[in-house]
Amino acid sequence: MIPSLFPAILDHFLTLGHHRLAHQLLPEQLLLRMKHAAVLAVPCFQEVGNGHLAAFKANMTNNSNDRVLITGASSGIGAIAADRLAKRGHDLILVARDRERLDAVATRIEIQTGRSVEVIVADLNKTTDLARVEEVLRNDVSITALVNNAGVGAPTRLLDADVDKLERMIDLNATALVRLTYAVLPGFLKRGGGAIINIASVLGIVPELLNGVYGATKAFVIAFSRSLHKEFAERNIRVQVVLPGATATDFWGTAETPLQQIPREMVMNADDMVDAALAGFDQGEFITIPSLPDLAVWDAYETARQKLIPNLSLSSPAARYRTTRERRELQSL
Ligand code: NAP
Repeated sequence: MIPSLFPAILDHFLTLGHHRLAHQLLPEQLLLRMKHAAVLAVPCFQEVGNGHLAAFKANMTNNSNDRVLITGASSGIGAIAADRLAKRGHDLILVARDRERLDAVATRIEIQTGRSVEVIVADLNKTTDLARVEEVLRNDVSITALVNNAGVGAPTRLLDADVDKLERMIDLNATALVRLTYAVLPGFLKRGGGAIINIASVLGIVPELLNGVYGATKAFVIAFSRSLHKEFAERNIRVQVVLPGATATDFWGTAETPLQQIPREMVMNADDMVDAALAGFDQGEFITIPSLPDLAVWDAYETARQKLIPNLSLSSPAARYRTTRERRELQSL
């Protein structure tokens, strides 16, 4: 079966314009990709004309050859987001460390959607690799959206974690995300707009539930996203921050925290999570919490936060912090 598919798939690569892809591969690599393609070959489907696509595109730019750069796209949420965005008609640049997994995702998407997919093998914990991706974000004028998704977790209890690994987690989840955003923004502003989707976590608002340093990195992403939204919304920079709850991906294994320890009713399928996140994007949300049934609860939380603002910075301490003498003096006035 596989050999008989060979010419058809090679032809498919070539007609899609992926000469680079077809010719750069060694015969055994091509065979591997063909095996992959044979399993996954389904009719190409494009959601052109879909209202969601129109909304999504309207929020980027009108460039029909636009590209979306997604970090952490070799598995889980990033790979599914890549699939969905290609099906919406976007070309892609996928970033992660594992070339084999990245290539497999790219090939599958190219075959299923006909979109062009470039891969960049980069370890965002390495300064030189990160700089290469920043360079692409700074110079590639076809990029209309950045999905900051790459991230890792850590074991639940602080002292079970290796502090050097925690530091690398902070560098990936927070520092790399800031640097990539910083690199892409000037071009977006120059070209009249763009979109930034940051994958945070519900642990950013409840860090006490699992590893607190991980939660703190996600709180950072939420805070940074808020500031981006405030600073750039009027300049046509669309910012969305997504707060997934527990989602069934490799994340848990990498974090040495078995997913089985989370009650099943709390774990969302990764496809559903990504589809909900994109529905939130289409609805114009700044913050998307895929599982939250009643948005009014979030609105109440946000209203309470806003209510704090006028009193968070005043010239004198609150009465409860004053010394007894000061309180007596105040009462005698
Ligand atoms: P995943 O399947 O483990 O995906 C993580 C991705 O990040 C992989 O593609 C991985 O690829 C990439 N990555 C890891 N370290 C990297 C590095 N140093 N440089 C470049 N890429 C790197 O897990 P996931 O659940 O999809 O995670 C995606 C995002 O969702 C993360 O930010 C995570 O914090 C967030 N999130 C996940 C959950 C959940 O329950 N799964 C919940 C809330 C938020 P390589 O190994 O090939 O580099």
